[in-house]
Amino acid sequence: MDSKTMVPTRWDMDVDFVVIGSSCGGLTAACKAHELGLSAVILEKCETLGGGTAFSGGVIWIPCNHHMEEQGLPDSREAALEHIRYTSMGRHEEDMLAAYLDKGPEMLCDVEKITPLRMQAASTLPDYRDELPGGSKGGRLLAPDPINMAQLLLEAEKQYPMLSQIRRAPFPLFSAVPLPTNDPRFYVAGRALIGGLLLGCIQKNIPVMDSTPARNLIVQDRRVIGVRAERGGKDFLVKAKRGVLLATGGYEWNAEMNKRYLKVPDQVHGITPPGNSGDGHIMGMEAGGSVALMDLSLFMPTIRIPGEMVDSEPMYRIFMFNVGQPGNIIVNRDGKRCCNECFYPDIGRAFEAFDSRKSQSANLPMFWIVDQAYRDRIPVGPLPKGSEMADWIEKGDTMEDLAQKLGLPPQNLKESIERFNKFAKEGLDPDFHRGETGYDKRWAFFPKLKPNPVLGPLEKPPFYGVRLHVGTVGNLGGLVTNTHGQVLDAEGDPISGLYATSNAAAPLGTGYAYTSGMTGGKAMIFGWAAAIHAAGAARDVGKEAAKVQKAVPGKPAPAAIPAKAQPSREAKPEPVTAGRPAGATVKILNEDGSSVLDLEAVQKTGDRLRMKGRLMGSFDTNMYMDASGLYRFLGMAIRWGTIKFLLLSPMYWYRGRKTRRGG
Ligand SMILES: Cc1cc2nc3c(=O)[nH]c(=O)nc-3n(C[C@H](O)[C@H](O)[C@H](O)COP(=O)(O)OP(=O)(O)OC[C@H]3O[C@@H](n4cnc5c(N)ncnc54)[C@H](O)[C@@H]3O)c2cc1C
Repeated sequence: MDSKTMVPTRWDMDVDFVVIGSSCGGLTAACKAHELGLSAVILEKCETLGGGTAFSGGVIWIPCNHHMEEQGLPDSREAALEHIRYTSMGRHEEDMLAAYLDKGPEMLCDVEKITPLRMQAASTLPDYRDELPGGSKGGRLLAPDPINMAQLLLEAEKQYPMLSQIRRAPFPLFSAVPLPTNDPRFYVAGRALIGGLLLGCIQKNIPVMDSTPARNLIVQDRRVIGVRAERGGKDFLVKAKRGVLLATGGYEWNAEMNKRYLKVPDQVHGITPPGNSGDGHIMGMEAGGSVALMDLSLFMPTIRIPGEMVDSEPMYRIFMFNVGQPGNIIVNRDGKRCCNECFYPDIGRAFEAFDSRKSQSANLPMFWIVDQAYRDRIPVGPLPKGSEMADWIEKGDTMEDLAQKLGLPPQNLKESIERFNKFAKEGLDPDFHRGETGYDKRWAFFPKLKPNPVLGPLEKPPFYGVRLHVGTVGNLGGLVTNTHGQVLDAEGDPISGLYATSNAAAPLGTGYAYTSGMTGGKAMIFGWAAAIHAAGAARDVGKEAAKVQKAVPGKPAPAAIPAKAQPSREAKPEPVTAGRPAGATVKILNEDGSSVLDLEAVQKTGDRLRMKGRLMGSFDTNMYMDASGLYRFLGMAIRWGTIKFLLLSPMYWYRGRKTRRGG
């Protein structure tokens, strides 16, 4: 037997449940295990906590969640089932899908009860393909309550400095719009999701050990009984009486695995932290686990700015928000458009496309092209709008000149731009359907632009171009698990004592389907389920569904799965949201006119102020704060620098008053 996996004669630590990786799934699992009476520990490889989730949007996808119900947003289990069956390309498993849909709302209620995390249903954030059967126009996607969580965590950080170890984005995610997400003092999005869960762990005294990578699982009589980790350069042996959960994220930083499993060998760059290098996959496979869906990855366009590094590795900057604006196109190696620039999964499809006639990548290398008008009004990566050139972006006085500098056929690039311009002026894109869906338009910087907020011609010279690199915010394939998060071997039998979630586990509930929040949703649901199973408290939620024949994509399900009862009212946490506001009295706007905060009402309740409104066009907010809290908030808003306060006309006040009086 390998000495590294041999059963040791002494252990450094002895607990019931070992969680490897401080992802949202790992933290959820540790909190739930503790709640069920198990002792738990979290081992984290990096110095920072929260992995890629910490600087993600922090959005989770949970159909039929209780916050939708509170806001009166429609949804049904049948619709969500239909949507996944339609979009999964037949690659999901029915019992895993049923478990996702049934456990999801229950997990969310429970997590809001046992941790300080509070989420909000984003009522205007649609499923990526909301126009397809069963799609939702809003509410299935939830994000951490932006105001309440930020305040809570900023306060908590004073008492628990560990919170400040939550990983920060290495670059501004919304590079063209200075949103508060980039303010290190502000806990929003992924930092708030991880923050709420981590605070739960801290309050429960669950040890969170950073800089402690797990190296091997220790197996005895075909049961995983512990972990050999490394701490301060030495072995650190942890006994796990009830189980080990792999929540180690994806394998995107493992070049060898990328080469083996992805269709774009040698070209993939992780946007998650470099710690996500497939350790959980490898440990799970060593213990006999099988893997699935290894070809799936959340590809994103990135740019490389020489010299920029993350954790001593070359950094590739996410470039998703620049490409979704008017006045730019993406072209392939032939100077021809190849994707819907507004929909990053379609850019991912173009990255992978293969030209069988030439036996080469159909599109790579791909380039992003803009004109001076775009540069005048939108920043590009770290370059402010209208600023001078940088050595990582090419400039040409004419389209042909730019094509030559980028090594593209000049005539093709010219024709591509001219054809795009002709249709863009009419607000159309017959070639790639850009700007046709609600999701395409969701991130438009100029939402009021006519005829289409994400289409506009490239006409004003000079022209600019930069090479796009294949980035990924997570490779999705991973270990095969069952509805309790147990890792299965090649014969489909559970490996005793071993669980997996996060991107270390294959997304068998959703298959090929993807909407933002499915990674986070899956990670939390199956981490939670794993803890319940390890504590011996599991119910077989997916059993009924397992009896149902596999559905054919695009066709109705062969048999209806009985709807599960929604979580009971008693199980609900104290709501922190209010209904949608009827009218605004105060607007706080971004420079581009998009709304940061629509404030409908400020009410005095005792000695506290209650502010009711909508944040960033999506989230209902219902803040309670004392006057000093209000001044702090306003101070922060002013410091953001780009935010303007506009007092709207008394008409709004009058309308609001009428509504409040029921007029
Ligand atoms: C900008 C951006 C926005 C995104 N937005 C969303 C979104 O809104 N919703 C969504 O669902 N997804 C989103 N994603 C995708 C998602 O965040 C990533 O796929 C993500 O990293 C998934 O998290 P995870 O749970 O798999 O693991 P992670 O959160 O990456 O956590 C894995 C952890 O395990 C640790 N680890 C690895 N190996 C070991 C080891 N051997 N021992 C101990 N610890 C180990 C890592 O260091 C890391 O901390 C986004 C990603 C990015 C980059």
